[in-house]
Amino acid sequence: MTEEISRRGLIGLGVGAAMLPALSRAQTSRASNGVGFAIVGLGKLSLGELIPAFRNTRSAHLAALVSGDPQKAHRIADEHRLRPSAVYSYADFDRIVSDPKIEVVYIVLPNFMHAEYTIRALKAGKHVLCEKPMATTVGDAERMIAAARTANRQLMVAYRCHYEPLNLAAMRLLRSGRLGKTRLVVTDMGRQSDPSDPSDAWRLDMRKSGGGALTDMGIYGVNGARYLLNEEPTEVQAWSQTDKSDPRFREVEDCYFWQFRFPSGAIATGSTSFNYAGTMSWHVLSERGKMTADPGCFYGGNRLSVTGAETPQIREINQFAREMDWMADVVRGRVPMVSTAEEGLQDMKLMAAIMESAARGGATIVTRSEFRRAVDPAAVVDLASA
Ligand code: NAD
Repeated sequence: MTEEISRRGLIGLGVGAAMLPALSRAQTSRASNGVGFAIVGLGKLSLGELIPAFRNTRSAHLAALVSGDPQKAHRIADEHRLRPSAVYSYADFDRIVSDPKIEVVYIVLPNFMHAEYTIRALKAGKHVLCEKPMATTVGDAERMIAAARTANRQLMVAYRCHYEPLNLAAMRLLRSGRLGKTRLVVTDMGRQSDPSDPSDAWRLDMRKSGGGALTDMGIYGVNGARYLLNEEPTEVQAWSQTDKSDPRFREVEDCYFWQFRFPSGAIATGSTSFNYAGTMSWHVLSERGKMTADPGCFYGGNRLSVTGAETPQIREINQFAREMDWMADVVRGRVPMVSTAEEGLQDMKLMAAIMESAARGGATIVTRSEFRRAVDPAAVVDLASA
């Protein structure tokens, strides 16, 4: 795990869906009360993690595929025993309105397409699970929330770390007070980007990604500092550092570094880059102990070390399966929504503040958000049921 790694490498480093014990088909979510999901966009995440994760779901099952590549979509549909009519193109996407087998639409498209497809799915009467970042602008995120309210449908953002045992255990330990007050959270989330990879090409395009490494990887640190501390920053300062002779960074910044001040007095510093070795790590320094998670947010194989308290025992799960099951259970009214659209909007606002502060040479941006997390993942996502 020492060499520089690309996104492909990062995915490979995670244990990933394929290496987790699959449940037998009989145990999967074909139960009559299961919730059907349409996966929109058959790129790396969908093919590498989400579709395989349906082998491990209890309440969610694959019901449809939406893709611009009919050959690929029909091949995958066939592999998963979906009927041909369960394959949709982007052009005939709105036909989902008359498909009762689809209850949830999971948006796994490039960031700039999230708002359009989320709103179209909501208008078709479907619930939506949308990948992070929820949009490329604060305005789009607000339009998505308004559309969910109008449609009276659920809109959840796919923050998989809210369902991940290591991060949940860390949140619980911090909430318990055993380590004392937290003084500092440090998050570093980034990797090398590869412009020859189509999956990275749109991430290096400002309009399509909304912010390069920050909206792709840095968002885990922005969200992570908030869920570890369970409070919201009041001040943001940020800086960027970019080698403009590197053709990858014609549009987006290479690195952002930021500092959040929290009402408790805690500080969170963060960095993100598309030009440093692959890392998704965080550290917490509290009065009587500290925690290091390195890696802390991979798909699997995360490691936690703790001083000042016993290191919790972590059981590996399939984060994607659990997240989709959680969405299905929200739809059935069995559990509360955890990773809400408002949570996604809060990160959009904070990332906009980081970009604004960096553009103004580290100017302090006061963030007067009304957002308060209604449901703490640490309080409701049950480790024992993992
Ligand atoms: P990807 O580029 O591999 O896949 C995107 C898919 O959208 C491709 O199949 C592509 O063909 C399709 N597409 C349709 N219209 C397109 C267009 N106009 N331009 C480009 N592609 C188009 O991306 P990905 O890595 O699968 O990421 C998809 C989403 O999932 C992103 O929002 C990303 O942030 C998110 N993601 C989340 C995680 C996580 O851990 N939660 C991990 C990876 C990606």
